[in-house]
This record gives sequence, C-alpha cells and structure tokens, in this order.
Amino acid sequence: MKAVVKYGKGKGLVEIREVPEPKIKEDEILIEVKAVSVCGSDLHIYHDSHPYWPPMILGHEFSGVIAEVGKEVKGWKVGDRIVSETRTGSCGVCYICQSGFPQACEQKRPYGIGINGAYTKYVAGPPRLLHRLPDNIPFEVGALIEPIAICVTSILERCGLQAGESTMITGPGPIGLISVAISKATGARLIGVTGRGSDEGLRFEKARELGADFTINVDQEDPVQKVLEITEGLGVDILIETSGGEKAIHQAFEMVRRLGRVCAIGISGKDTVSIPYDRGIFKALRYDFCFSSSWTAWEKTIGLISKGLLPAEKLITHKLPLEKWEEAFHLLENLQAAKVILIP
Ligand SMILES: [Zn+2]
Ligand SMILES: [Zn+2]
Repeated sequence: MKAVVKYGKGKGLVEIREVPEPKIKEDEILIEVKAVSVCGSDLHIYHDSHPYWPPMILGHEFSGVIAEVGKEVKGWKVGDRIVSETRTGSCGVCYICQSGFPQACEQKRPYGIGINGAYTKYVAGPPRLLHRLPDNIPFEVGALIEPIAICVTSILERCGLQAGESTMITGPGPIGLISVAISKATGARLIGVTGRGSDEGLRFEKARELGADFTINVDQEDPVQKVLEITEGLGVDILIETSGGEKAIHQAFEMVRRLGRVCAIGISGKDTVSIPYDRGIFKALRYDFCFSSSWTAWEKTIGLISKGLLPAEKLITHKLPLEKWEEAFHLLENLQAAKVILIP
C-alpha cells in the first residue's frame, strides 16, 4: 500500500513509499482509512520541531471502517464505521492512567507520531481506542473529531466554559476556529477572535461563519484596548490562547477579566516564554495548560456533531487525494486553508 512516510530525523525527509499492509495481533483491529485530516503537528514533524519516532507513517486525525477483527476482540465487527483516539502505547497502569487521564501517560506513542499512522490505506491498533461514528457523520467530518475533542477537553472539561460566558480566542488557525465553534455550541454570549492581516481573507471569514461576533486584526488595532472597549472595561471570562505567540500570551493577561481563566492550547515552540506573573496574581487568574483529549470529550464531540449542534463540516476548506499531501501542507503553511482532508 502507498503511505506518506517520515523516514528519518531532521527537516523534511517525508515521501510516498510502498509499504507492506499491517498484520494485526489477536487483540487488535485493522482499520481501512476513509479520510485523514492534516494537522499542524504534521507540519511541525515535517519541519522537525515536534517530538516523533521515525520511521513512521504520518497522520493521527482519521476515520474509517473496520476491515479485520482479531480473534480476542469483542464488540466490533468488519464494516463498523469508526474513529480512533490516538493514545496508542498509554500503559493503563501508571498513576496518570489510573487517575483517568491515559492521554497524558508518559508511555504514549500516538498514531502518526510514535507509531504508523493514517496517511495510508490501513492502520492496525487496539480496539480500546475506538468510538462509533454515527451514519449521519461523513468520514471527512469524522476525521476532524480528534482536534475537536482536544478543544472540548480543554475548553469545556478543563476550563469549564458555561452558557452565557464570553470567550476571546487568540489565533484563527484550525484550533482557533474549532474553539469558536465550541464557544458557539456552548452558548457563549460574546465570541471574539484575534489574527493578523493575513487572516483577513479566509480565516476571519470562517470565524464569523462559525459564530464569532467580532474579529480583531492585531496588525491594525490594539486587541487589549478593543476587548476592554467591547466588554465595558471588564475583560472576557475565558481567553482561549491558540497562537502560542509570546505577545498574544502577554495580552491574554490583560484581555481576560479579574478571576478569569486562560485556556492555553497553542504551543509556543520555545523553551521559555516570559509572562506578567504579578499581574496574574493580582487579577487572581487561572491559567490552564491543556494537552490532548479525553475519552469523554470524544463522546461529547460525536454527540454534538451528530445532533447538528456543531457544524464541523464548515471547517473543511479542501479535500485532496493522499498523493497531494505536499499541496495540502503548502495550503496550510500559506494560511490558505482551515482544515484539509486527504483521501487515501
Ligand atoms: Zn492533530
Ligand atoms: Zn500510563
């Protein structure tokens, strides 16, 4: 089968290769990949700025059908429509796993990062990570459940966004746009998004389509001043930081209200980022660092999409055959896309 393989440590080193189809163990299932979504992490791996264990096939945001079931597997059959969590390797027995957060296990080696992923036709893995994909969710939308579940884990489960609260999202990339959609689905009373001049086209438009009440181009306006103006000097209840930019992180402390929460999802790519520490103390802020997704968030995400409460299909701007993975990477790097789906 054809697969997009990251074959070594270093910048680039990705190509389409002919690889053998995976063979399953008795306690595993074989998934036929129907759609795989390109993630910012895939680009980071391409550029050697994210942890990974090569050689491996890229791709961790995917959906498909079960193609084969190991002898010991119960509850699943060939043809079942599924999505799979990515936390392969999580041990299940350490303190972190046992406390209900296996997605944060140190042993975790995710699909497409630590082991072979879904930029190909077949993926072998454990059935414990599967969730059923309802018939009314198309496969390409199913491929978005992973990044949406990350935002549900971060914004709803960890930060505790409630109906009637206000959110400000820094950065209109895929995670920022998903954060807008979740804020809207939850019933936020005010949703704002910051971005650069380069976001004025597609990304700000998408943000408004998904429910943003206002957008701020930080190249032209001071976002702190604007947010304080709109909230009559109070600031927002929750600041969702998806950019990882040092300036945005600083401004987060000013845009959020006293006793507000900062929901940090964006990766800075730096060893250290300075923060206005005392400002955070005097405002009694909560700063929640967020990472990965919980089992419950996957179920909530599937329910929200299936019931029509979260229009995930609007996040998809491009659908390409797997062979065009390079074009997909370019589209994302040049900010010309929200979510790009590859079809193997
Ligand atoms: Zn991802
Ligand atoms: Zn563990």
